[in-house]
Amino acid sequence: MRDYAGIRENRPDTLTYTDWGGGSREAAKQYEKKCLARADRSFSQGLQCQQINSVMALLSMEDSAFIVHSPLGCAGCCSMANDWFRVGQAHRGSFPLRNARIIVTNLDEKDVIHGGEKKLREALALATDRYHPKLIFIFTSCASGIIGDDVDTIAAEFQEANQEAIIIPVHCEGFKSKICASGYDASFLAINKYILKDEPREGTIPGLLNLFAPPTVSFADQTEIERILGEIGIAINYIPFYSSLEKIRRITRAQASTAICKVFADEFMKDLKEKYDIPYSHTIMPIGTRNTDKWLRGIAAIMGKTEEAEAYIKKQQEQYLPLITDLRRRLTGKRAVICGGTGRSFAGAALINDFGMQLVGMTTPIYDDDVHLDMQYLNELYGGFTVDIGNMMPFEQVNMLHKLKPDIFIGVPIWAARLGLPTTHVLDIKRPTMGYRNLVYLGSKIANQLENPGYNKKIAKYGTLPYKKSWYDEDPFKFIKKF
Ligand code: SF4
Repeated sequence: MRDYAGIRENRPDTLTYTDWGGGSREAAKQYEKKCLARADRSFSQGLQCQQINSVMALLSMEDSAFIVHSPLGCAGCCSMANDWFRVGQAHRGSFPLRNARIIVTNLDEKDVIHGGEKKLREALALATDRYHPKLIFIFTSCASGIIGDDVDTIAAEFQEANQEAIIIPVHCEGFKSKICASGYDASFLAINKYILKDEPREGTIPGLLNLFAPPTVSFADQTEIERILGEIGIAINYIPFYSSLEKIRRITRAQASTAICKVFADEFMKDLKEKYDIPYSHTIMPIGTRNTDKWLRGIAAIMGKTEEAEAYIKKQQEQYLPLITDLRRRLTGKRAVICGGTGRSFAGAALINDFGMQLVGMTTPIYDDDVHLDMQYLNELYGGFTVDIGNMMPFEQVNMLHKLKPDIFIGVPIWAARLGLPTTHVLDIKRPTMGYRNLVYLGSKIANQLENPGYNKKIAKYGTLPYKKSWYDEDPFKFIKKF
C-alpha cells in the first residue's frame, strides 16, 4: 500500500529539489549523478503557502462551506481564490454571482496559548446552521498545527452528532512543505479519506475519463479540452473545479484518469490505480500542438481510442499548423524567459519552439524525475539556458532578467513589466491557452506584446523596483546555500 503523506519533498519514488540556480545542462548532469545538492536559501523573499492551493482546489465545489482554521492573515489569499470563483461563475453564465462560503476561526494570541478547538467547534456549528452544506472542508494552518489542535477528533465528534454534512479536514499546514503543490495533494488525500473512503467500486462507466484540473484552467480551456475529447468519443468527469459531491463519487466509476497539469492529482491518480485499478495517463500540459498531441495520445492509449486520436490529430495539424506560419515570421529568433509553476513553465517552454523562439531562462518550483525528462527535452531543443529552482523568489527573477535581457518575459508580469520588458503569461484563468485552436491565440498574444511594448516602457519609466543597483551586479543565486 502506498504511504504518501502529502509532502512532495518526501515522495518515495523520486528525488525532489527546491533550491538551485545555474545552467540547465549542469542541472540535468548533476541530477543524473544524484549530485544536485540538497540546498536551502539563506534569504527567502516569499513562498507561496500550500494552504492556498488546497483552498483554491476546492473552493468552487457545489454545496460546500469552508472553514479556515487559522489566524486571519493566513486567509488573506482566500479573497483571490474567491475572485477566481466569481470569474468562473461569470464565464459559466451562473448569475447572480455569489461568494464562496468561507469562515475563518481567527486564531489569536490567547488561542495560541490556550488552544483554538473551541473556535473550531463554533465554526462547524455556524457553517451548518448558516449554509446547510453537503460538505464542510476544514483547512488547517501553521498555527493550528503548532499548537496541536486535534482537528481530526473535533471533526469526527461533530460528524457523529451531525449527519447533515460530510466533515473533511484538509491538512495543509504551511510549514509542512516548501512546494505549494503539496496543498493540492492534501485536498486529494482528504477526498480519498473522507468521501471515497474504502467504498468498493460500483462498476465502470465505459468511455468516462476523470479529468483532474487545477483552478487556474479557464472555462474557455475546459470547454476546448472537453470538445477535443468529445471528438474521439470520451466523456469527462471534470474534478474538482466547479465540481460536486456526486462528481467526486463518480471518480471510482471512470474507465481511466488524467490531469491537465503534471503536478496536479498525479499522486492521487497513483492512489486510484492502486486502490481501484483505474489506469491513468501522466504526460504533459496540452499547450501547443506537440504537447496536445502527446497529451491526447497518452489518453487515447489507456481509453482504447488510439485510431480515433490519430485521425483527429492529423486533421488538427492540417488545419492549424499553416496558421502559425505568420506567427513564426513575427516571432522567430525572439528570446524568452518563462516563469511559472512546473506544468505551465515546461509546456510553455516547449510551445515557443513552435514559433521559432529561443528559450534563454526559466523558473520551476521543483526539480524531480518528471522535470528531468522535460529538461532533457528542452536542452535538446535549445542547447542550454539559465534555470532558477524555487518557489516564487522575484528578487532572483528580476536579477536574472536584468542579466539575460530577453525580448519577452512569459509569466506573472508585475516585476518584469517594471523593467520595461514586454510581458505576457500562460497562467490566465480568463483567456484560452490550451489545445490546438488556442495555439494561435497564444502566439498572437506574444507577438502583439512584442510589437506593442509602450505600456510596459511607461511603467518602467514611472514605476520603481525595490532593489539597489548593486543587487543587479550580484549572482542572482547568491543566497542559495550550497551544501
Ligand atoms: S498557513 Fe503558515 S505559511 Fe500558510 S499563510 Fe498561514 S502562517 Fe503562512
